[in-house]
Amino acid sequence: MSDGAADSTRRRRRLLGFLSLHYVPALVAIVAMVGILVYADWLHQSSAYQQKRLASLDRLNQIASRLDSDIRGNLYLMRGLVATIEALPGMQQAQFSEIAAQVIQGQSQIINVAAAPGLVVRMVHPYAPNTAVIGLDYMKLPSQRDAVLTARDSGAPVITGPVKLVQGGEALIIRLPVFLPMENGKREFWGILSSVVNLAALYERSGLLDAQNTDRLAIGARTEDGLQLDHFFGDETLLSDDRVSVTLDVGRETWTISAAPKSGFGLSLADVWLFRLQLLLAETIVVLPMVWAGRLMQERQRNLVAIHEREEAMRLLSRRLQVALETSQIGVWEFDPAANLLVWDERMKVLYGWPPDARTATYEDWKDTLHPADFAQAQREFTEVVTNGGEYRSEFRVVGKDGAIRFIRAIGNAYLDGKGRKKIVGVNWDVTQDIRLQADLRRAKRQAEDQHRELEKAHLRMENAALHDALTGLPNRRYLDQILADMEDAGGEMDVTVLHIDLDRFKDINDTLGHAAGDVILKHAAQALKLNVRGSDFVARIGGDEFVVVSRMPGSAEEHSDMASRLVEALSKPVDYEGHECRVGASIGIASRTDASEPVEQLLVDADIALYEAKRRGRNRVERFNETLRLNAVHTKKTADDILRGLEQNEFISFFQPQFDAATLEVVGLEALARWDHPVKGLLGADAFLKIAENLKVLAAIDEIILNQALMQLNRLKLAGMPVQKVSVNISAQRLREEGLIERLAALPILPGSLSFELLESISFDGHDGELVPQIEKIRALGIDIEIDDFGTGYASIVTLLKLTPRRLKIDRQLIQPIVESKAQQQLVRSIIDIGRSRGIEIVAEGVETMEHADILRDLGCHYLQGYALARPMSPADLLPFLKARSWMPLQRLDEVG
Ligand code: C2E
Ligand code: CA
Ligand code: CA
Repeated sequence: MSDGAADSTRRRRRLLGFLSLHYVPALVAIVAMVGILVYADWLHQSSAYQQKRLASLDRLNQIASRLDSDIRGNLYLMRGLVATIEALPGMQQAQFSEIAAQVIQGQSQIINVAAAPGLVVRMVHPYAPNTAVIGLDYMKLPSQRDAVLTARDSGAPVITGPVKLVQGGEALIIRLPVFLPMENGKREFWGILSSVVNLAALYERSGLLDAQNTDRLAIGARTEDGLQLDHFFGDETLLSDDRVSVTLDVGRETWTISAAPKSGFGLSLADVWLFRLQLLLAETIVVLPMVWAGRLMQERQRNLVAIHEREEAMRLLSRRLQVALETSQIGVWEFDPAANLLVWDERMKVLYGWPPDARTATYEDWKDTLHPADFAQAQREFTEVVTNGGEYRSEFRVVGKDGAIRFIRAIGNAYLDGKGRKKIVGVNWDVTQDIRLQADLRRAKRQAEDQHRELEKAHLRMENAALHDALTGLPNRRYLDQILADMEDAGGEMDVTVLHIDLDRFKDINDTLGHAAGDVILKHAAQALKLNVRGSDFVARIGGDEFVVVSRMPGSAEEHSDMASRLVEALSKPVDYEGHECRVGASIGIASRTDASEPVEQLLVDADIALYEAKRRGRNRVERFNETLRLNAVHTKKTADDILRGLEQNEFISFFQPQFDAATLEVVGLEALARWDHPVKGLLGADAFLKIAENLKVLAAIDEIILNQALMQLNRLKLAGMPVQKVSVNISAQRLREEGLIERLAALPILPGSLSFELLESISFDGHDGELVPQIEKIRALGIDIEIDDFGTGYASIVTLLKLTPRRLKIDRQLIQPIVESKAQQQLVRSIIDIGRSRGIEIVAEGVETMEHADILRDLGCHYLQGYALARPMSPADLLPFLKARSWMPLQRLDEVG
């Protein structure tokens, strides 16, 4: 439910709660009280009304009776005067005035009196102001005649008025008939006595004009027909209002005097509300407790509902707990140590294999089910919580009544119940599966660990094998690399010296006596090294006949040089192999660390450079890496970069040196020689870059460039009609091993006999390079001739070389040069030429620097000549003019030809 909806529901419930039954008594009371209030209010008002009316009437009666008695009083006075006249019918004015004055003096309101014997006024009192009326005949005055006649005829007084007086004010006129008695007993009409009574004085006396009057007053005379009131005094509007009235007979008229309080008969608003307020207060005092009671009842009801809801939630919770316990098979128990009572729920009984209807258990019952092996500990743990309280955790096996063994995990807690008694409550559950699983896992883990150990051992063995050379047992290149890497990681250790050792002439022994002999030599060398280094030095075999010693002991340069010399000496000692005395030598390059920031691996490179230098300077030497070598190395590096650039820029070109027939001195071929047309340094010879190019592994690429140019040049010369038959190109071992070489060569247009590959004698065709032999065979099969270059300088056995059956042998210029001076050297060259000839191999002599050399060689039976004496290597552009000029020819020969 959303918040808004919940809110509105709550509001509605509150409203309904207010209207609920608890407030019914209060509501009834309120309704009744309202009724009472209205009724009492009405009663209060109407009784006040009645009272006011009565009071008004009371006051009015007093006024009316005073008015009545005054009018009567005046009438009596007049009667007295009538009686006087009856007694003295003949009186005259003077006597009348005298009597009248006596009669009306004092309390009378009579203004004047007139006597009209025979209906004509003859006497009047007071006389002076009224002389005008003397002689007035009533019969001639219509306004008075009726009243006069009525008085005569009825024999009773007639009161009329009010009438307006000429002198102002109002008055009542009382007319009395006067009858004179006669002797016959009858009465004879005399005339009329009339008087004017001051009405204002009457009003005054009655209290009508009283200023203190709380009532409004009005007087009206009922008309002859009695239907209407002729108002003549007071507030005329009163006649149409609510009022009280009394009637007063005045002569032959009836006056109605009305009165009503000025404030009306009703209560004042203040009175009404004061009363109502008092009543309301009283009622409130009665009703309020009832409302309060209703409120209390409602609250009680609400509390009841809340309690009910809580109970419901509790029931739900306990049901859920029940379900949870049931599904998880967790049993609940409670132990009362004081009573030794153990309460188990159904699941506990199942766990312990008890029947469901089993009686309540005791501590002993539980103890009896414990597995003997777990008995002591389980009991200890339980006793602990019983005596010391706190948390209880235990795990044990139980033997159920059904005989089954289960692993039980128990958790519990001590607590104090409502009466302060210590109890322990807890749960048990079956962890048999878990325990078994754990045991299985442990077993599996143990097995895995065993296997892991085995693997580790195997790994170590393998690693050892991987790090050691099987033949000599020395650490191998990998191991060395590791050692160096470790040192690198360790930081700038300064005292590091590397000796790079290379056995001299090892290949010869391998080639001549076989691998077994080579192995013996290597083992011997390893032994000799180990014996002659210090204990802490590290010795490794890093290649065929190469060794490295890493020394980390501090020591001077001499000490290391001495050690190196000792090693050279030891390695040079002859070794006996199956009766053969084998001698190898050793060259050593040394490099020591001088700069901690330079990587330790660099020492290996430096030592290698020094070793190379040692070999270059002749064998059995020790050479130390130095500044010069370093500069060389730097130069080499620069050149290497330059070569790569040059290759990209096609700066490598071919020069050609012609080769001559020794007998005729005709040009028979050319040797293509690589040159570097350097943009800055100008034309560079092979020495300047070939070695570096080889190390850069780009020599094969250069060879290919030269080959292409050579073929092109040969073609060009042929087209020019030159009698040049063939071209020779030098071919490196790298080129020979190049992948796809044969396929690429096969694609070239090569006439058999027109192309020759010059292979250096030093390229080994056995052992490592043994695979080159079939390669050479394939080249030969393409119609390319094989030529052994620099013959006589290498160490390859002549036998092996001849096995290759080359087309030509090219005798090294070192052997050629001395022949002019030395007969013995001539002899050596002659024997080479003889061997070749006997095998059908052509002989080329290089380094033919003088014509003397040329003559001797021709005489020795050499086939071809190449050298400065006849032609220097030249650019393709120079080649054709040179061939055409034939300037190399001796003059006599020219003559002969010419
Ligand atoms: P090489 O094959 O023995 O070449 C003959 C070398 O002797 C050339 O030196 C040549 O100029 C020089 N020479 C020729 N006649 C005489 C002479 O009468 N007296 C003296 N003192 N020297 C003479 P270059 O061109 O400097 O070549 C040196 C070496 O470089 C070559 O020796 C060859 O082994 C190698 N080389 C040259 N070009 C190539 C090439 O294209 N590929 C390969 N792989 N090696 C080449
Ligand atoms: Ca050559
Ligand atoms: Ca040569």
